[in-house]
Amino acid sequence: MSLFRNQGPPGDDSGGRSPRVLLTWALLGISVALLIGNGLVEFFLARGDATNLALSVAVTGLVASAVMNARVSGVEYERRNSESESFGRILRALSRSVSPDAVVEAIVHELGAATNADHVAVVRLRPGSKVLDVAFVSMLPGTPTSNMVMPIRQVEPIENRHLREMPRQTPGNSPVRIHDGEPDVVWQDDRTFDPAAAANQATASIRSRMPMRSQNSAGSAAARDVADRIAYRLRDAYGLRNTLAAPLQSGRSVAGAIVLSRRTGDVWPEAAVRLLNSAAAEASAALARVYSHQAAESEARTDQLTQLPNRRYFDEYCRLIASRRRSTDRVAVVTIDVDHFKLLNDRYGHQVGDVVLKSIANAIQYSVRDEDVPVRFGGEEFLVLLRNPSQGIAMEIGERIRQNVHDMDLLDAGVTERVTVSVGVASGQFSDEAIDDIVERADRALYAAKRTGRDRVVEAWQSDVAQ
Ligand code: GH3
Ligand code: MG
Ligand code: MG
Repeated sequence: MSLFRNQGPPGDDSGGRSPRVLLTWALLGISVALLIGNGLVEFFLARGDATNLALSVAVTGLVASAVMNARVSGVEYERRNSESESFGRILRALSRSVSPDAVVEAIVHELGAATNADHVAVVRLRPGSKVLDVAFVSMLPGTPTSNMVMPIRQVEPIENRHLREMPRQTPGNSPVRIHDGEPDVVWQDDRTFDPAAAANQATASIRSRMPMRSQNSAGSAAARDVADRIAYRLRDAYGLRNTLAAPLQSGRSVAGAIVLSRRTGDVWPEAAVRLLNSAAAEASAALARVYSHQAAESEARTDQLTQLPNRRYFDEYCRLIASRRRSTDRVAVVTIDVDHFKLLNDRYGHQVGDVVLKSIANAIQYSVRDEDVPVRFGGEEFLVLLRNPSQGIAMEIGERIRQNVHDMDLLDAGVTERVTVSVGVASGQFSDEAIDDIVERADRALYAAKRTGRDRVVEAWQSDVAQ
């Protein structure tokens, strides 16, 4: 980005200017020349007094300072303009972002270009995740994005007592150049590295440039500490020299940081600090919006009583695997129905019935493998989808579920009798057998289990397929 856009090359004052502007410059030049010429003629030739000459020099100085002021204001205006244009582009891209990756994509390139950074790193904590995701993007075209993870403790707040112990950088000393040069604390291992101390040293300078409102806010200062600790860690990981960081916030807690880096030790200009802070605030809001949308989506696919995936999830999942199934892929289905559940509800009440359903869901989840998909199919009916089960595994899982439910201790819920389930099992015979058809066969087997006494597992026979 050039701060001098719409102007000619350095040293060429007329470059890119309109003829009217050139005319005003010419008139100004002629007026100044006449003024100085008149002063000189008055003084040397007409032997006038020195007052005229002094007056000419003063007026010339006045004109020169007015011209300089106009140029500086113009440059400042251009810079502000380009800063707000960059910010506008970031805002527009963020408003279109529907996924966390799109949010990252929306900010990095514009921010990198507008701040003359060589690298932009976005470090973020996904909801429910135990690590921080790092996307490290080089501004050099064609350089792939590097991804890594960071321990979650990097975003935990630094205790104030650590901060008070640290010596402060004097205000005005290298104002915004943070992390420049070698780290003061050498990263050896977790015992010798004091992240609080390192972050404190790294952030002392940027704090001195922050507005008073932010300085007074303990939460905001703590967030910056965390952002700078992340920057410190990135310096260590990627060998960075000169970084500038701003926190990504989720409500009151820190959910990551955006870190800019430069190969040179040049001081980061105020405009870069401002743009980074604004972009980080907007990106935080965009990430919060995207995550809350994702949470709502996932809630719509989760049964709220048992927290198992629901029928909607199952249908979508089936469509997905149907579109990707290979000729060697096999699917098996286990269907489960609680025995005499209406009687249990009648005897103990609906609320106790709910507790029992939750316990059954836990027992099912406990009985299946990681790759199996247990689903609350509706009411007191459950289903497990098994992908590529080995010989006999579907029956084994069906029997494990039956046994684990049978063994449940429900005395705490006040249920004194055994709760049992009937189970039907069906394995796909061909790779293209529709999952709905396999579910139907498993259901027929389940009703056979009901008919023959309940609390048992029945397997659908191959002959079923022909029916
Ligand atoms: P069977 O052994 O033949 O399956 O008998 P059943 O009583 O279990 O079957 P039926 O279909 O007659 O009754 C199912 C009962 O499950 C009726 C309904 O009130 C109850 N039920 C369905 N959903 C829930 C729920 O979310 N919570 C509770 N507590 N009960 C539910
Ligand atoms: Mg039923
Ligand atoms: Mg039932």
